[in-house]
Amino acid sequence: MNILVINCGSSSIKAAVINGISGNELLTMKVERIHDKPLVHINGSTIDCIGSGHEAALNFALPLIKDHLNEQTLSGVGHRVVHGGNKFDMPVLINEEVEKVIKEVSVLAPLHNPVNMLGITVARSVFSDLPHIAVFDTSFHQTLPRRALTYAIPKQLRDKYAIRRYGFHGTSHEYVVGLAADYLKADLNALRIITCHLGNGSSVAAVEYGRSVETSMGMTPLEGLVMGTRSGDIDPGALVHLALEEEMTIKDLSQMLNKKSGLTGLSGVGNDMRDIVEKSSKGDDDCRLALQVFTHRLRKYIGAYTAVMGGVDAIVFTGGIGENSAVIRHRSTQRLDYLGAVLNEDKNNDVILSNEAPVQDFAMNHSRVRLLAIKTNEQFAIAQETVRIIEKKNKVNTKPTIPIAVSGRHIHLTQEAVEALFGKGYELTVKAPLSQPKQFACNEQVTIVGPKNKIERVRILGPTRSKNQLEISRTDEFFIGIDAPVRASGKVENSPGIKLIGPKGTYQMKEGVICAWRHIHMTPEDAQLFGVEDKDIVDVEVSNGIRPLTFGNVLVRVSSKYALEMHIDTDEANAAELPRYSEGVLNKTDGSAKLITKKKKH
Ligand code: ADP
Repeated sequence: MNILVINCGSSSIKAAVINGISGNELLTMKVERIHDKPLVHINGSTIDCIGSGHEAALNFALPLIKDHLNEQTLSGVGHRVVHGGNKFDMPVLINEEVEKVIKEVSVLAPLHNPVNMLGITVARSVFSDLPHIAVFDTSFHQTLPRRALTYAIPKQLRDKYAIRRYGFHGTSHEYVVGLAADYLKADLNALRIITCHLGNGSSVAAVEYGRSVETSMGMTPLEGLVMGTRSGDIDPGALVHLALEEEMTIKDLSQMLNKKSGLTGLSGVGNDMRDIVEKSSKGDDDCRLALQVFTHRLRKYIGAYTAVMGGVDAIVFTGGIGENSAVIRHRSTQRLDYLGAVLNEDKNNDVILSNEAPVQDFAMNHSRVRLLAIKTNEQFAIAQETVRIIEKKNKVNTKPTIPIAVSGRHIHLTQEAVEALFGKGYELTVKAPLSQPKQFACNEQVTIVGPKNKIERVRILGPTRSKNQLEISRTDEFFIGIDAPVRASGKVENSPGIKLIGPKGTYQMKEGVICAWRHIHMTPEDAQLFGVEDKDIVDVEVSNGIRPLTFGNVLVRVSSKYALEMHIDTDEANAAELPRYSEGVLNKTDGSAKLITKKKKH
């Protein structure tokens, strides 16, 4: 799986061909001086470009990649896209619709997205037979809670201009937390990690149990930490003051904040951290201040993000500065003992990261919080994502998916039971239709009374049936003190009974309490498509949950009255931590499951 990764930026175009599985780099290319006389550096040689500007440079440089690849084939192209707005929470296969949406959100990143789009357009024409995937800097942070992404300005303006925190560097933050979890031999879903990506642009993220819950960059990459040339956090009142007193225009302010501030503005010697560290060690006071402001702000964020997550298990340093500067790591992590992070000076000084050893721990052995330096690799991360989407695309084409619904406790009643509980001649009333045709949730509820406890407000599902059936989870069973069997719907023989209380009377169910066997409803046409029959037992793979998993022993129910849907109970859904709209892929098994009441026919 060789993937061409393209990062088409405003001042340079970077591209690489990377194996999306092993990370091996087969080719690198960089185009510089795009607006002057572009130069193409490709695998060590330099070529003058014909024409200037992004479009000419791309049209000249991308076909060169084809020539350099000789016999090696490409499987796809991954594009870095800076801003996905709130439209993309994961990488996507690019088509006309996706291009349209990327263009729509470009208003949020006018310096970046239009050139990213140009890269996509030219690459799609040069490599027209390959799948192209967009990987967004913002998508990892789409899990930010409302309280973290909302700015306290009037709602009408927030809504009209989509002003909110989006966050950037998501590809890097996501990549390094994955490496951190692997290194710590821990489940990412059990870790609270603060990631400090410190490069020319810098940002911090709080990644709680695998999800980004806070990050320092905002609507644009200007907010947060002190960066190479960007100011990071500043009182907006200071800008108003400058506009009034210095008569600075919007353009002047933007130029100052983006290009002349940060380490450049503080140090007076430019944006290279190496120079600043060296000059400060020789007594340069501006450089000393630059280091102090840089690390003070980072420490502030580390403390704040620990508070946001209610604790921290690992703090990660990455990006050119985070990976290479022992001084910055030292200054940012010393005296963090109060939160359980104890720096080991020697290990910190000895950190040398490589592709073979991309993670090093520089905390004391007894430190409860691990301090990690990690080599990021955004290009490889984009290549990996591209492979994942290509594989998913191929999979979806061959295996249709099944929507999964969680069924909470509920009861089906006979007309006799309804009348005993609600009065003579009573008819159930419709509260809401269910996904299965002609089925509905009723307004009516009953109380179920077990030997140990009772549960109130159990929803009745209509219409009435020929047999009473109460479907509860194992947790409910323990609570009310009943041991009910796992059964297919309708199979209530020899199951326990239970007492019901309604507004007009009580009713004793003689049998009918079951724990519903997980099952799939489908039509005969669906069954033909999946190659299964009624009462078959299958496995269903689910890959969009917190972790990939397989539900074994799933009963197939076929009827023209059904709509395609798999039903699991709340215990199973909770244990699996499935997102709200999950889908599964069906796998047939050998039918050896014990629970089946009628044997599989083949
Ligand atoms: P970008 O955000 O452009 O990808 P990088 O992640 O490559 O940037 O980081 C560039 C920054 O890393 C520069 O400020 C550079 O000075 C800094 N850097 C690289 N090596 C060192 C080092 N040994 N000590 C301090 N800073 C370093």
